[in-house]
Amino acid sequence: MDIPLKVKAQGLYCTSGHFYIDAWKPTPICVVTHGHGDHAYWGHDLYIGSPETIKIIQHRLGKDTPCQSLEYHKKIKLGNCWLSLHPAGHILGASQIRIEDSKGVTVISGDYKRADDATCKPFEVIECDIFVTESTFALPIYHWPKNEIIEKQIFDWWQENANNGHPSILFCYSLGKAQRVMSLLSNHSDKTVHLHGAVYSLSQLYNEMGVKLIPYTPVSESAKGSLFNQDLIIAPPSAIGTPWMKRFPSSRTALASGWMEVRGTRRRRALDRGFVLSDHADWSSLIRTIEQTKAKIVLTTHGNSGTLAKYLREEKGLDAQELKGLEANFEEED
Ligand SMILES: [Zn+2]
Ligand SMILES: [Zn+2]
Repeated sequence: MDIPLKVKAQGLYCTSGHFYIDAWKPTPICVVTHGHGDHAYWGHDLYIGSPETIKIIQHRLGKDTPCQSLEYHKKIKLGNCWLSLHPAGHILGASQIRIEDSKGVTVISGDYKRADDATCKPFEVIECDIFVTESTFALPIYHWPKNEIIEKQIFDWWQENANNGHPSILFCYSLGKAQRVMSLLSNHSDKTVHLHGAVYSLSQLYNEMGVKLIPYTPVSESAKGSLFNQDLIIAPPSAIGTPWMKRFPSSRTALASGWMEVRGTRRRRALDRGFVLSDHADWSSLIRTIEQTKAKIVLTTHGNSGTLAKYLREEKGLDAQELKGLEANFEEED
């Protein structure tokens, strides 16, 4: 079967629909899977995405950004194909892209996960001929613990620090991961948590779109001299080691990320704790998902794409290969 995709200088291009997907350079029409920075780039003439993704794009790139919202499951004709978006379970608004043309059905997963997440719609399995899958954590060592285990670990860590009079600073990605943590913690506490500015504005956006979170307030609104010594503070990893942290002397620090599964990562970052919490699929979820799509052709991209393609060829007898050319723009997220 012909693959209706091509990697061009601007990014991934759909040859039957004449549009780009998550392109990194300006294009006439770009369908965007979700609002993370390594998928929603600046400068397209038109962005197409789920209503939630469009809200996030306009928050990040400016409210005048030219956008077209497309509800999940609604089909529109672009070029010679029908395009529709389907939940990917990654962050709020994250979509898989389904392309149907005269040759068959192609699905581009974008980033996805199969674990429960109350902040977004769950991943939907779509049967297709060609499945383009992400492979960020495509190694058998990656196996995510259940949410209940991780949320309890985070809550207990916070309580222990509070009992000893230490502020707890939890670092996590400001879009998606932070709100997922705030949703999980709302199962254990209704105490207000304190947010770094970057996390605060995105949490406001989630709230506006109806996602329930633990109560929160921006750090910047606390009185000068506040000790925060009973508090949980949530900040992006980019704040690690910056002067912003001086506000919290004697704080205890932790990172919530899939990368925490690997020994040594935490030590390199010089943090006190690591919590294994990822918005990507782990190894067994990747394999299960690929099987459920019943795709005969599988293209792997982002992260350990070579390992996954080899495994699918040798162990599952699939026509699998790396989708080359997208890796250069891959940023490690979690
Ligand atoms: Zn992402
Ligand atoms: Zn990504």
